Amino acid sequence: MHVLVINCGSSSVKYKVFDGDKSLLSEKIERLGDNFSHADAIQQVIKAVAHFPIDAVGHRVVHGGEKYSKAILIDADVKAEIERCYSYAPLHNPYNLEGISAAQTAYPDLPHVAVFDTAFHATLEPAAYSYAIDAELASQHALRRYGFHGTSHQYVAELAAIHLQQPLDQLRLVSLHLGNGASACAIQNGVSIDTSMGLTPLEGLVMGTRSGDIDAGLVIKLQQDLGLNASEIDIMLNKKSGLKGLSGISNDLREIETAAENGDQRAQLAISVFAHRARKYIGAYAVAMGGIDALIFTGGIGENAVNMRRRIMQNLDFLGLNSDQDKNASCSLSDENPVIAVNRTHSRVSALVIKTNEARMIARQTRQIASSQKPDAQGCRPIPIAVSARHLHLNEESFKTLFGADAEPTKYKDISQPGQYACEEKVNLIGPKNSIEGVRLLGPFRRNNQIEISRTDEFRLGVDAPVRDSGRTKGSAPITLEGPAGRLELEEGLICARRHIHMHPDDAEYYGVENGDNIEIAINSEGRDLIFGDVLIRVSQKYKLEMHIDTDEANAAELTRGLGGDIVYDDIAMDHACATIQRNSKDAN
Ligand code: ADP
Repeated sequence: MHVLVINCGSSSVKYKVFDGDKSLLSEKIERLGDNFSHADAIQQVIKAVAHFPIDAVGHRVVHGGEKYSKAILIDADVKAEIERCYSYAPLHNPYNLEGISAAQTAYPDLPHVAVFDTAFHATLEPAAYSYAIDAELASQHALRRYGFHGTSHQYVAELAAIHLQQPLDQLRLVSLHLGNGASACAIQNGVSIDTSMGLTPLEGLVMGTRSGDIDAGLVIKLQQDLGLNASEIDIMLNKKSGLKGLSGISNDLREIETAAENGDQRAQLAISVFAHRARKYIGAYAVAMGGIDALIFTGGIGENAVNMRRRIMQNLDFLGLNSDQDKNASCSLSDENPVIAVNRTHSRVSALVIKTNEARMIARQTRQIASSQKPDAQGCRPIPIAVSARHLHLNEESFKTLFGADAEPTKYKDISQPGQYACEEKVNLIGPKNSIEGVRLLGPFRRNNQIEISRTDEFRLGVDAPVRDSGRTKGSAPITLEGPAGRLELEEGLICARRHIHMHPDDAEYYGVENGDNIEIAINSEGRDLIFGDVLIRVSQKYKLEMHIDTDEANAAELTRGLGGDIVYDDIAMDHACATIQRNSKDAN
């Protein structure tokens, strides 16, 4: 599949064509402005790629707001949401959208996919994404940490796991993307748990021209004492600060390093502040994750600036990171050699320099989504798959026992089936053999308690749970639940959920199936294709088309992102995997 990747910046358009992971063309159109618009540039792109059989277009979009936790096929709603986020990324989202519209006009029949810089950080918990300001105001205006550079952090994390030959979901990584824009990310078990950029890409590390962290009081002072207005402060902090502001020379680290060697004190300070800030984040994130397995350097500075890496890694032996300065000095990345370890052989923590490739990641995600749009051999639409991590449904009485008489469930986020949502609240499952901590509650309340786990969980807990259709908990297995306010010994409710497909009556008609049918499904993942029998069809006006399987089943079909291991999503549709109906047992009889 040939994918065109378009990255529309404020004054440039970068584009690449991929066949699989292989880049066939990489170009940049610069100096866009009044006389040459983004739409003009896209016309030029279309001409330049005319000889490639383009199958899909992937667009980098900087801000996806609170709504998008993954790449998505672009429709009118997606475009409206990108526009709604203009105020959070005024230098990016308007141009991203202009590029999308122009490309859609040129390729009206191709799937267009938006890949968001913010999406990888959608896994941040409230403790990490909340600013300690008036909570009501924050919620009204969606003032929270979003994080950026997500595509890059995710890409290098996956390469790190492959290099270390360990499953990504068992690693604690600190990724430093150090370029003109710079950010740090704490990646635990394959997901972003904290990142240094915030509501906008201004927060965090020292950047080329951006200040990164400052005391918010400084902004008040600039306004009150110096009389600067909002746009003047914006220009000062976004364009005239960072390495450029500190050094007074340039935003280019190479020039600053030369000046520093020649004794320029401001250049020396710029380098020290840059390194000091990065080191602070390594420490903070190591604590947040309870340790660190690898430190990753990427981006123009991370990949190339030997001396900056040396400064940042200095005296980190107490963390278990013993850097090797010879390896660091001779480190030279290439497409053939995109990961180089610069730690000593005995170092418990690895230090990896990794060549990032956001466009390749965008192409991959675009390919996955575009291929899930293609009809199967019978010409039917494939069915998206969602993987349910272990979770539970409670009735109100049980909730009160576990969380307190005055407690109310707090929505964490909507899940794919309309009206259902994941809650902030989690409980521990106590089995005769072991416990499983932090199992998430789904809302709204149900009449009966239902706790859904996988076969592997059963063995861990030491219980024997029957495979059941959702809602059929009578005579299922007992389990003890533990919440912050109390314990609940349930005589039944624990099940291993039978795999099933939710669908609307229109879908049922389209596929020629009925509620209660027992069908066979083929899963085409990018890993191992698999056929599942005994799949229940559940039809309701309320349902959205989606197959639900548990983590064991997903692992069997290698429906994981990155490398192996448990899937950590709470019921998130996996767009890169889809199922097609093979056989209905009703027809076979
Ligand atoms: P962007 O965020 O705009 O994509 P890059 O990731 O290309 O930026 O990073 C640009 C930065 O990388 C510049 O500050 C540049 O000075 C720095 N850089 C590139 N090569 C080197 C090098 N060999 N030594 C030091 N800094 C370097």
